[in-house]
Amino acid sequence: MPGRGLVTLGIGDDASLVRVAPGCELVLTADLLLEGVHFDFALHPAESAGHRALARSLSDVAAMGGTPRFALLSLAVSPRAGRAWAEAFYRGFFRLARRFRTTLVGGDTAVSRTRMFIDVVAAGEVERGHALRRCGARPGDAIFVSGQLGLAALGLRWLQRPRGLAPRGHVRPPGRNLALALHKHLYPEPRCALGRFLSRRKLASAAIDLSDGLASDLARLCQASGVGATIDARLIPFPGVLVRPTEALRLALEGGEDYELLFTVPSRQAKRIPPKYQGVPLTQIGVITLKKQRWLIGLDGRAKPLAAAGYDHFARASSRRAP
Ligand SMILES: [Mg+2]
Repeated sequence: MPGRGLVTLGIGDDASLVRVAPGCELVLTADLLLEGVHFDFALHPAESAGHRALARSLSDVAAMGGTPRFALLSLAVSPRAGRAWAEAFYRGFFRLARRFRTTLVGGDTAVSRTRMFIDVVAAGEVERGHALRRCGARPGDAIFVSGQLGLAALGLRWLQRPRGLAPRGHVRPPGRNLALALHKHLYPEPRCALGRFLSRRKLASAAIDLSDGLASDLARLCQASGVGATIDARLIPFPGVLVRPTEALRLALEGGEDYELLFTVPSRQAKRIPPKYQGVPLTQIGVITLKKQRWLIGLDGRAKPLAAAGYDHFARASSRRAP
């Protein structure tokens, strides 16, 4: 367990100074959040935008097996957003930062004449040699995912429904399951504890976070590792009670922003993966293969090639609003 990363000089000088624990490497990642691409002024409450801006980066730290420590936030706000929007944005950002003990050590703000633009850099720690990478999967390794896939895309779909455009603060999805989907989209939970568990115990041979959908993120992991994969649709944990199974499967494969972890485990270690970790289900969905193709065993039991198609969330939304 690494010691807490320390801020030796916080915000207020030209730059901050931080220290990481001995024997640790710094995990660094940057993510952009663009209005109209990653969030929508009309659909997303400002607090959700703040949460998601940081969650994307924390999820990348989680996928490396690191513990988040520091963040830098640069924000270009458009005048129509105003001060109230910015304050709510910071509330969402800082609430998540506090929960993950991540200290803001710098950043910048500006006014954008066009769209809003948010840049988050997160820094974490991982013991030297323990980082989880995409390139370590080997033939025969078991493929696992955390949580339920496709829920975030389902939540976004609900938000995008014309009737779903309820006034802010009046979002009332019918039923608990849809509320879960909505929450998963607006306030995704980075799987940092799981990433730490896998890296500390050296259980995973490779890992990636699911930001673009299972099909494309699995393709990235396989390409980095020089392997193929077979996954079974009947094993993928998706929200089948909410939509038709074929549609739920499509959301799981192509819907993005679940921020769950996809990881591979050498077969002899697979039994050491618990069915749940801190309440989050861990499910084996397939196996890594020597041949580089990726195959999906469908709900009908038939195998077919798995294309790396990621779902473009805003394709429909933005075309609807296109000038
Ligand atoms: Mg990632």
